Formats: sequence, C-alpha cells, structure tokens
Amino acid sequence: MRLLSWNVAGLRAGPGPAGLGALGGDVICLQETRVTRDLLEEPLAMVDGYNSYFSFCRTRSGYSGVATFCKDSATPLAAEEGLSGLLAQPGKGGAVGCYGDLGAFTPQELKALDSEGRAVITHHRIRHVVILGDINTSHRPIDHCEPGDPEAFREHPGRRWLDGFLWVQDGPPGQGLFIDTFRLLHPSQPYAFTCWRIDTGARLTNHGTRLDYILADRALALAELRDARILPEVPGSDHCPVLAELAATFLPAHHCPPLCTRHMPEFAGTQQKLSRFLVRVERGASMTCQGAGAGRGCSIRRGRRPPRGQRDLLSYFRAAQGQLRTGTAPNALGQSRQEPAQDAPGHRTQEMAHDAARQGGQQEPCNGLVPRELMMGQAVGTQASCTAHWRTVLPGPAPPPCCLAHRQPCALRTVRKPGPNRGRRFYVCALPPGRPSDPRACCDFFRWASKGCS
Ligand code: ZN
Repeated sequence: MRLLSWNVAGLRAGPGPAGLGALGGDVICLQETRVTRDLLEEPLAMVDGYNSYFSFCRTRSGYSGVATFCKDSATPLAAEEGLSGLLAQPGKGGAVGCYGDLGAFTPQELKALDSEGRAVITHHRIRHVVILGDINTSHRPIDHCEPGDPEAFREHPGRRWLDGFLWVQDGPPGQGLFIDTFRLLHPSQPYAFTCWRIDTGARLTNHGTRLDYILADRALALAELRDARILPEVPGSDHCPVLAELAATFLPAHHCPPLCTRHMPEFAGTQQKLSRFLVRVERGASMTCQGAGAGRGCSIRRGRRPPRGQRDLLSYFRAAQGQLRTGTAPNALGQSRQEPAQDAPGHRTQEMAHDAARQGGQQEPCNGLVPRELMMGQAVGTQASCTAHWRTVLPGPAPPPCCLAHRQPCALRTVRKPGPNRGRRFYVCALPPGRPSDPRACCDFFRWASKGCS
C-alpha cells in the first residue's frame, strides 16, 4: 500500500496526468489543486487507472482545493468532501461519517471551513485511519531551517496541538493516537524538508521546512509501516511529494462512490466526448501530411466549395504588394485564403494548424489589417533608438556592488520592518539563504544603498 501526499500548487500547471501516473501511488492525495469545478478538465479528472475525488473551494476561484486519486485496485467504499458532513449530499449515499465532537463550532463556522475545499475523506476496507497532507506546521526544530528560539518555537499553537496528537515513544500514557511515519523511520534525519520559498531560490540550498506529513494511527504504523520518504527530486511545485508504504493491501470496492468524478455529468461517458475530436471526412477527400514542415509533399483537398454567392473570407483580406511581412500573427490571416469546409468544424481547425506550420514566417502581405503583433514589431524597431537616446539623457542607477565572498552582483532590497529605517534600501548577497557552510548559500554581505540608488 503506497500512499502519497503532494501540495502541487496548481494541478493544471503542475504534474498533469502523466506526472501523477509516474508517482505510482495506490492513493495520491493532492493539495492546492486551485481548480474549481468549471475549470476541471477531463485529462486531470480522469487519469487512466485511477478514480478521483475532488473538493473545490466554493468561495474563491483558483484557491485551495484538494483531490484524492485512488488506483482502481484501491477504489474506496465511500468518499466525501470536508470534515463536518455538512457537504454530504442527502440521499445520495457515499458519506463516510465519524465526524467526532463538533460541538465547539457553529454550523456556520463548519460550513465556512468546508467550503474552502480543504479535505476529502475516503473510506477503504483496512479499518485504520491515515491522515495525510500539507498541515502547514513544522513539528520540531529539526523540521525547520530557522527554528529560532526553542521556547517560542514550541509554544506555537499548531505545534502544541501536534504534540498532543502524535504518539512518541516513552511519552505520557494514552497520549498521541497517531504517528508521524517519516519520523518513526528517520527520527533524527536533519534537513528533511518538503517546502521551500520560491522567491529566494531556497530549494537550491535546501533551506526549507517540513510541512507535509503522512500520519497513520499507531497500531497501523507500528505493525505495517515499511517505508517513509520525502521526494525532493520531484519538481513542479514549491512543495515536494512525501510517501509512505505499508505492508497492508487494499480490498477494492466494486463501484466508485457518488463523489467520484466519473459520475460528474460532464465526464460521464467519456467516449461520447471523444467524438469532439473526430471529424467527418467526405468520401473522396484526401489528406496526406508528414510532420510540420511537409512542404510540397503535403496536399489537402477539401470536400466542398462555398455555395455560390457566399463570399469567400479572402475577399476581406485582399493583399497588396510590398508590405509588411514578419512574425507569426499573419498565420491567422493566412487562413483567409482557405475555403472553409462547411460541414466539419474540426476539419477546418486541422487545416489552420497545418497551414500555420507549413507557411512559417513567409506570409502573404496584408493590406489594411495590421495585426497587433506587427504593430508591436514596428514599435520594437523604433524603441531601440529611443532607448539609446534616453540612456544618454538618464544614465540610471549605478550597477550594484559585488559581494565579497562570491564576487557576484548584489540584490537591492528595501527595509519593510516598521522603525526608523523603514523604506531605506540596501544591498545583500543575491544568492539564496542556506547553511553558513554551504558555498551556494548567500554570504553576510550588507551595504546601505546611497541616496542616488533609492
Ligand atoms: Zn555572496
């Protein structure tokens, strides 16, 4: 049983279906999918060999959102959104239940929490509980690159909660029902981070935090845990995936629960949707083309001419000689020379792509209609001389100093902290933060910028 958790920071820009398949988990839990239902596309919702369960943020677009992908050999018995049961659809079945004591929250608070798309619960036939995801807290100082003052670190409310929630060997009896699987197998491994700041480039120096966990109930972890790892080599997000392998195996359910994306009307019967990509080709029409730059070997014959009296699009783009020719934008105009197939929209689309590839930058000149890209192209030509002129008038700021250790140009920053220096600018080493012994990490160079630079 291979379990994976990954904060993907955007499912559409991130790993994609192929990436998810390559991770090879029986259950893959993704956070920050940042998709809402209207943005969920079929290739992301319907990954081959998996059934998937999404919770979307209902209050903001492109924000939070989680998804659980289960291999077909690990199909859950039930699946539901949220942690409170308020989003379970009455009468539709599939709810997991077991919400615990929710008395400390009002229904409004619970609904607001579950509307953010933060949790999916799936119920499998193993009788144990595993909690996995980005819990946005580094548990111990060893899990943080800059833990700071130990007392203040420990007093953080999220850490105190984790202290009570997690089991430790020789801890108080009865405390801690769950086990941090990574720390069970690697109790003192340093620099085991799962999240790095992007703006400082800190992944290069592994200056990060461990925020992503697979927490298994004590009985399950102690009896069945075989492996627990972080996968910092997997790119695509500011977090990396984490995994746990248990000796137990899943017993799959026979049918996917109602929350499964397969039951969403927009994805039900995907074969039907494939018809969108298929094109009716008339008898006698032929299409032979090898690769993009097929040139002469390429011939396309369309089935039907426009009816008499119907004006060809060409007439709107009559060419004149000796005018602009450049760029990719005229590909769009190039289409006007084609006679659109009347019966098959897909046919025309294919031709457009074909023409764009075939014609490359050698386009018919156009008259009257100057695409925006062409205008920008012209502007670039004149802009170069303009820039040169303004450089002589306004030379701009002096180049930044180089740091002493790396001899590299420094970064200019501004004091944001409230106080007498707020707004002042200064130079520091431009390399990412890291351990002092790491030559790839920034040195301690510091210099106030002179007033001319601010
Ligand atoms: Zn430096």
